Amino acid sequence: MRAGIHIEMLLDNRTLLLSLVLISAMMALSLAVVSWGREHDSLKKWAGAMALESAAWSLAAARGTIPDVFSIVLFGIVLASALAMKLAAIHEYRDLGWPRWQCLFPVVLAFLVFAALPYEDFRGRLIYGSLIYGAQLLMIVQALRADTESRAGRAWWLLFGATAAILPLVALRAIVAFFGIFEFATAQSSVAPNPAQLAIFVGIIELSILGSMGFILMVKERADRAIRSLAMIDSLTGVFNRRAFMERAEKEFAIAQRNKTSLALLMIDIDYFKRINDEFGHPTGDDVLVDVARLLDSRLRKQDTLGRYGGEEFCVLLPATDEAGAMAVAETLRNTVENTLLATERKGISVTISIGATLCLASCPSCDLGFHRLLDDADAALYQAKQGGRNRAVTLPIGCWNASAA
Ligand code: GH3
Ligand code: MG
Ligand code: MG
Repeated sequence: MRAGIHIEMLLDNRTLLLSLVLISAMMALSLAVVSWGREHDSLKKWAGAMALESAAWSLAAARGTIPDVFSIVLFGIVLASALAMKLAAIHEYRDLGWPRWQCLFPVVLAFLVFAALPYEDFRGRLIYGSLIYGAQLLMIVQALRADTESRAGRAWWLLFGATAAILPLVALRAIVAFFGIFEFATAQSSVAPNPAQLAIFVGIIELSILGSMGFILMVKERADRAIRSLAMIDSLTGVFNRRAFMERAEKEFAIAQRNKTSLALLMIDIDYFKRINDEFGHPTGDDVLVDVARLLDSRLRKQDTLGRYGGEEFCVLLPATDEAGAMAVAETLRNTVENTLLATERKGISVTISIGATLCLASCPSCDLGFHRLLDDADAALYQAKQGGRNRAVTLPIGCWNASAA
């Protein structure tokens, strides 16, 4: 007997494969339980793919104990179907329809090849099977690469890396078979004709399970992103809500203080908004809010922050902006809203806005009081704009501004 530990000494091949298959099947079951009854849930499709994969592997593990038509032909079809379903799941995840040809063609091809080859042609099956599965894996990798949004997350890399890592293993299987590097046992023998074959097969299964974890976590990461965005975004207008705006403002304020740059704040209020609600109804009032938010947003720079501060009040943060700049932006916003006929397809409403502007300059002692001081100043300026007849922008020489001017 040769020295060294063979994997068969620890576990026989069949037990090893069956335990991996069981892990995969349990994962499929838990995914199916969680996603049961949900419409268009990519996890449900992935559960199906994992179940098919587990079935394929158990058919392979049972080779020699069940008729060859199951352990060979059915195995080939089921494995190709599993990969097709993974591709469909990724498309579902990306809100795309399932790619029929890319999914169905390899399954049909697997059936034809595995049914046509004689059962004892283990080598031929390995080569053609590897080509089919390799092509399917490439399609999965390609579909993942196209998902630019999820690429930012770590789970994407888990799935992408694990799937991509299977490719060289599949290629190795084909190469080993093609050059006849190892002696192949007949189809009637057990699953793995030699330790190298077994190691590759086990590696593929493990990477596949790892990839499935990646997919599950990718779905979770996206759900987390959606929740975070729900907590930050005003559902009506799509701009930052008050909480998110204040968080951003505190941060910008701290940056401005540290870098000794100026920070301007505009407080914007729609004039006579109550009348719009009274005259046209609340839903039209909502539409006007959406349109005004979009208009304001369209006139701001990338580094500016727009938030809905209250009912029909918006705030704008203008980093590194001086007095002239702040006034120019305020005037542009006021002018744009005044001269745009909102919601023309509905009632052709035109509205105006009043703006209170204020500015925090570097080395201003009032700024030490914090961002709330800036808000108070902007609010006071807005009040003056309203008092002055509305549809105007006012900057008040108070607070930071005053201190800097003094
Ligand atoms: P002023 O020129 O003085 O600002 O007059 P105004 O009518 O705009 O001021 P006021 O603050 O009295 O009215 C604001 C109105 O905005 C009252 C409230 O019903 C309405 N409002 C607040 N939030 C919403 C909303 O989400 N949708 C709609 N449609 N209306 C809202
Ligand atoms: Mg108001
Ligand atoms: Mg108002």
